[in-house]
Amino acid sequence: MKASTLLSQIKADIKKYHDLLPDPKYKPGDDSVESIISGYNQENFRKIMDSKYEGLEEDINKKDLDDFKRRIDYFFSIYAPDEVEFREFIKLISIYLSFIAKKPLHPPGIVFDNGKKVYKKGSHFICTGKNIFLKDKESLCRYCVAENEE
Ligand code: SF4
Repeated sequence: MKASTLLSQIKADIKKYHDLLPDPKYKPGDDSVESIISGYNQENFRKIMDSKYEGLEEDINKKDLDDFKRRIDYFFSIYAPDEVEFREFIKLISIYLSFIAKKPLHPPGIVFDNGKKVYKKGSHFICTGKNIFLKDKESLCRYCVAENEE
């Protein structure tokens, strides 16, 4: 499958999840993890809806894509088994980030509980916790474009 076809599918499928966009209570300047992630979801939803397909000729590896979806299903089965709609929304956003936009799954600016963080350095995205989080069972970091800090 070409990247343009995948993006077209994401765009068609994600429309119905518009109501899952972050609550307006999340304001710019609020740097809580929830606010940063909600803002990132909102930003990427808008980007998907405004996206064009030209130049997206890359072939998407179906095995990787299926494995990626399976890992998201695993994550939700552990932490939020009843959040079916939200799981599908996050799945679409995450596929877009990793396979189309080539942006990290966690937003630059986020600081995790263990103090590790994600940031942009030039044209690269750095995640200082990637080495650690890669060891988690069914980790999505394997498919994330963020690089380890040297
Ligand atoms: S490498 Fe892992 S922890 Fe770091 S941004 Fe990507 S998905 Fe998140």
